[in-house]
Amino acid sequence: VDDSEEPGSRTVPAACFSRIRTLQPLIRPTFVALSRSALALLDLSERDVLSNPQAPEYLSGSRLLPGSDPAAHCYSGHQFGLFAGQLGDGAVMYLGEVESGTHGRWEIQVKGAGVTPYSRDGDGRKVLRSSIREFLCSEAMAALGIPSTRAASLVTSDLYVTRDPLNSGRRIPEHCAVVLRLAPSFIRFGSFEIFLGRDEFSGLQGPSAGRHDIRAQLLDYVIETFYPYIQQTHSNRKDRNMVFFREVMMRTAKLVAQWQCVGFCHGVLNTDNMSILGLTLDYGPFGFMDRFDPDFVCNNSDKRGRYSYQAQPSMCRWNLARLAEALGSELDAAEAGAILDQFMPTYEVFYLCIMRKKLGLVGKEEPEDSELISDLLHLMHNTGADFTNTFRLLSRVPWPDEGHGGRATVEPVVDLILEQCASIEELKVANKPTMENRELAMILSMAQTNPVMFGMVADRPAVSQQLELMGRLKELLETDQVELKKKQRDDWIRWVSQYRRRLPRECDGTGDLSLIKKERLSVMNSTNPSVVLRNYIAQNAIQAAENGDFSEVNTLLKVLENPYSDAFAEPLDGPNACAEKEQNKRIL
Ligand code: AMP
Ligand code: MG
Ligand code: MG
Repeated sequence: VDDSEEPGSRTVPAACFSRIRTLQPLIRPTFVALSRSALALLDLSERDVLSNPQAPEYLSGSRLLPGSDPAAHCYSGHQFGLFAGQLGDGAVMYLGEVESGTHGRWEIQVKGAGVTPYSRDGDGRKVLRSSIREFLCSEAMAALGIPSTRAASLVTSDLYVTRDPLNSGRRIPEHCAVVLRLAPSFIRFGSFEIFLGRDEFSGLQGPSAGRHDIRAQLLDYVIETFYPYIQQTHSNRKDRNMVFFREVMMRTAKLVAQWQCVGFCHGVLNTDNMSILGLTLDYGPFGFMDRFDPDFVCNNSDKRGRYSYQAQPSMCRWNLARLAEALGSELDAAEAGAILDQFMPTYEVFYLCIMRKKLGLVGKEEPEDSELISDLLHLMHNTGADFTNTFRLLSRVPWPDEGHGGRATVEPVVDLILEQCASIEELKVANKPTMENRELAMILSMAQTNPVMFGMVADRPAVSQQLELMGRLKELLETDQVELKKKQRDDWIRWVSQYRRRLPRECDGTGDLSLIKKERLSVMNSTNPSVVLRNYIAQNAIQAAENGDFSEVNTLLKVLENPYSDAFAEPLDGPNACAEKEQNKRIL
């Protein structure tokens, strides 16, 4: 801990935390929302909080909680592939830890409570819109059963900072807000990168470069506190560390599989946003996919799609490799490499396991199951199907002994699926290459004259993606609309029929069929959410809150706390239900 009295932004060597001595109170802090389930982790009820008139001050870092010892955490990280040196935390103040009688020990921190020694040029503040997104999504993820940091309260204020939300070059004043976050720990991969030496590309080095004594202390703290079962069962340090690294690999693989299976895109998968406990950490420009698109990018500033939906697993693996580097001599390099090699296969196992549940397949795994899933995703992409709604609808596919058999039995559910697919016009827009035709024509002409050079550029995901889009658009333009719609319908009937034929093989002939059918429905409806935090829905709540009406945030919180309930999903929400609201692209 850096105990220096000196305030303000600076490079802090040889410390993982800096004490914060002066609080920077908000003006008129007011609760926007409280999460009962997160407060309960601290043994607090909503009533406890609301009955204390100073609670908005306490929970926003405006007034010192008794026993609290505020500090800011120093971490580094690789941002968009490049080492960034000392980078945070410039906007978060750690308040301390709460030992709950029933829920164990929780670290509590406030995000947006003002400058810290690590704020650099920033103001250490967060605005209402980004805080609402973090608050709601933290709680939504937890309710979905996806490991996440939690958010207990959201406070707004009459203190303003200026931001440029539309990236238009025009800054506007916005309310400062503070989220009270909880997690067993917020230590991240980047927490270990402060010990890295000079980076050959960026020329930067970690503020505590070479301090392997502190690195050992931090590692001991993490393993002893959060992985006690590993600590207790390994007397050899290197063995202990390898088991720890394997565990972090497993948790990360499972986490990203869970993201993929609800269509969640994190948006900023830098190493400083990777939790050492395998939690979803840092809700910025995240997005839940509406229409399924493997190339979905939710972060407007991620121009090259580094953190696209389908890139997430490989990016997590890349980040784990950076963690291994940062742990350096604490790990055996060859063994760490072998663990990294297990990442993708481990991820695939988790992914298949959850995807099978999403289809209600709980019996014996079949080799064709993977193909059934990838065919479904391919069809969803081709027809612009809504990710969340399509999976939710699949539980309505009748068992083969139900209905009259043949096409007529599957047609009602296919029609429901088609109802929430994109129109041909929308598909044309969605499949328009973003690269200029001119640039693509140049690349194609290069293909004729210089296949080697073409090979080099066409291999780049951006180019091959553009070429694929061009092909898809060509087909859309050249085929008759009525014929296209008919083809889409036939394709869906074919897939649904194939899926339906798969269902009876769930039953090996010995079990009770009605129980198996019941279990299929219950597994599907507890794995396929009926609601997720769609961007435009968050945006509506944000707009209302900015105008002083917090009711939509609170209603949304209630809905998201029960994502597997049908109660809120009628009529099915999605891009077709709210096409005009979807135009609202203002995010973050
Ligand atoms: P992120 O891309 O959200 O992970 O942010 C990277 C880092 O930027 C954070 O760890 C903070 O240290 C820093 N940062 C973000 N917002 C602010 C702010 N308003 N003032 C100072 N630093 C900030
Ligand atoms: Mg971050
Ligand atoms: Mg952030």
